Amino acid sequence: MKPNKNTDITVLSPFEENSQHIEMYLNVIFNNTQDPIFVKDEECRLLLVNDAFCSLFGLPRSQIIGKTLAEKVPPSEREYFLSIDRKVLEDGKEVLCEETLTIGDVQTKIIVTKKNRFIDPKGKYFLVGVIHDITQRKRTEEKLELAASVFTHAGEGIMITDAAGILVDVNETFSRITGYSAEEVLGKNPKILKSGRQSPAFYADMWDALLTQGHWRGEIWNRRKNGEIYPEMLTISAVKNAAGLLQHYVSLCTDITSLKEHQGQLERIAHFDLLTNLPNRVLLADRLSQAMLQCSRHEQSLAVVFLDLDGFKQVNDTYGHDVGDELLIALSVLMKKALRKEDSLARIGGDEFVAVLAELTSVEDCEPVLERLLQATSTPVTVGDVVLNVSASIGVTLYPQDNVDADQLMRHADQAMYLAKESGKNRYHLFDTAQDDAVKVQRESLEAIRSALDNHQFVLYYQPKVNMRTGTVSGVEALIRWQHPQRGVLNPIEFLPVIENNPMSIEMGEWVIDTALTQISQWQKTGINLPISISVNIAAVQLQQPDFTQRLRALLAAHPDVEPHYLELEVLETSALNDVNHVSTIMNDCMTLGVNFALDDFGTGYSSLTYLRRLPANLIKIDQSFVRDMLIDADDLAIVEGVIALAKSFKRDVIAEGVETIAHGTALLQLGCDLAQGYGIAKPMPASDIPEWISHWKADDAWQI
Ligand code: C2E
Ligand code: MG
Ligand code: MG
Repeated sequence: MKPNKNTDITVLSPFEENSQHIEMYLNVIFNNTQDPIFVKDEECRLLLVNDAFCSLFGLPRSQIIGKTLAEKVPPSEREYFLSIDRKVLEDGKEVLCEETLTIGDVQTKIIVTKKNRFIDPKGKYFLVGVIHDITQRKRTEEKLELAASVFTHAGEGIMITDAAGILVDVNETFSRITGYSAEEVLGKNPKILKSGRQSPAFYADMWDALLTQGHWRGEIWNRRKNGEIYPEMLTISAVKNAAGLLQHYVSLCTDITSLKEHQGQLERIAHFDLLTNLPNRVLLADRLSQAMLQCSRHEQSLAVVFLDLDGFKQVNDTYGHDVGDELLIALSVLMKKALRKEDSLARIGGDEFVAVLAELTSVEDCEPVLERLLQATSTPVTVGDVVLNVSASIGVTLYPQDNVDADQLMRHADQAMYLAKESGKNRYHLFDTAQDDAVKVQRESLEAIRSALDNHQFVLYYQPKVNMRTGTVSGVEALIRWQHPQRGVLNPIEFLPVIENNPMSIEMGEWVIDTALTQISQWQKTGINLPISISVNIAAVQLQQPDFTQRLRALLAAHPDVEPHYLELEVLETSALNDVNHVSTIMNDCMTLGVNFALDDFGTGYSSLTYLRRLPANLIKIDQSFVRDMLIDADDLAIVEGVIALAKSFKRDVIAEGVETIAHGTALLQLGCDLAQGYGIAKPMPASDIPEWISHWKADDAWQI
């Protein structure tokens, strides 16, 4: 092994040292080194480049030799680039320079070139450069710098531990959040931050997630150096190396104290009344539902107490809202004191409060509390230099006695509160479930009747009225029936009382008149040559409608083929009693239209002579209650006789209702009452049965006296 004089290259035996071989070796080495190498002449033009150089620039040798390749350097650096070359050629001092290359249009390479000057045998300078591509290294450095800067300046606190969980690095934000400097914590376990607020199970879950999924995220309470406990959002990631071995845990944490506070504020606004700090309607609903649940579990009762201040509006109007507000605050404090610890109080609007009295064993349990509430609200309150004195009206309902949902309970307590107000304020009123049930049933019945009317479920049955002496049919009485889809044919007692004071009764009454008129006209058309007068019952409210006569005229006009005298209106004796003048005027007006009147259920009212004289009814119907017992009860018989005599003296016709037997008929005939109606003659029947019945009916032989 001999060192070559001209080069540093050591040639190994067994090769012979000859220049040809050396040139070949040099050439091979030259072109196989990874670092690009070039030789430039005195004009800085490239004389010789190796393969690595060509591939660095992405050019064939032919496009390189003879060029400076200064264009591959960004324009701003070009002059500098050439000046270095010139300087090296001039000074002969080795230079190590960093350069940026633009290869193609975009690709940028960062290189470090070691440039040296040499002299050729002819005494000319030439420059040899060895390039080292440091692009990758630079990029890595930049990334590391960036990462370091992110680490330092991150808004989140960062903790890095080794695989054993020992802190190896923390950033500034970590120190700011926790109060611990890096020196104080490095080498320690993050447990120093433990607040003690989390259960061992919490940490067990965290470790489980870290070990199985490689990360954990959640809220955690930690302790600062100064002892303060604070909430943070924490993300921990396990970092593994390429071989999958755990290297570090990296934790990012954000102090969420202010977020929590803000959340808390929002929750307060959502659930509390800002003025009195009492729960609002939303929270109340929640508490009430909970208390109801509790009640069912412990078989206890609770009371919902709806409280509305009396005279609060005047306070506001007289002294202004600020004073009003002060009063509300003061009263809410007093009311709270009046309650037991298991009760809760909410403000649900202006001067409306609701208390939920829990854990009651009997109704009586809540009475002292209610008394205290009344006392609290009527306590004089001094605001500034005025003394304010209001009171409260309180409505109470008890659960589960009032077995409805939370919403309904509130409504019931509210309703009861109104009754307390109506009956004089400064008192409490207990909600009456039985009455409420009745109201509910009434409402449901009304709805059902409404829909029955709309769905044409009402029909008229007809009951014949006859002359027992002559054996003729004098007419029929229209009696309404409800053909109920489920319950079958219903009698008027089942539905008329429900609509007694409802406008629907007017509508139904008009429907009856209209249907009866249609029926008369139909029977006329079928040609049954019979006395086909129909009497219809008129409810008191209907008769006393201011426009009753006009309505009747319109109904008659709608049936021009029906002669009005075929229509008879039955008015209850009792319905005429309220205002005999008014009723007699209406009756007189209607009679001018041609219709007839009958006084129904006669004997059940005062049956005074004056009334009878003033009410222009052609026919008097003896109430069936007297007829029924006339054969066995002397008093009833006397009444029947009396009514018959009265009718005779006033020249009115008289008919007995409720004639159930032949014997009744016989007795009535003997008393001089020829007209009769009753089950003994015929029960009410559908219209279609009437013609057949009429054609077959015969007065009983016993009546042929
Ligand atoms: P009302 O006008 O006195 O009618 C006579 C009632 O007595 C009818 O009962 C009839 O079915 C029944 N009745 C007839 N003969 C006998 C009998 O021999 N024995 C017994 N126990 N009862 C007999 P209904 O149909 O149940 O009607 C009851 C009441 O309802 C009627 O008494 C009338 O005041 C009223 N009403 C019926 N239909 C209407 C109507 O369309 N409009 C109005 N406003 N009220 C009506
Ligand atoms: Mg009647
Ligand atoms: Mg009657």
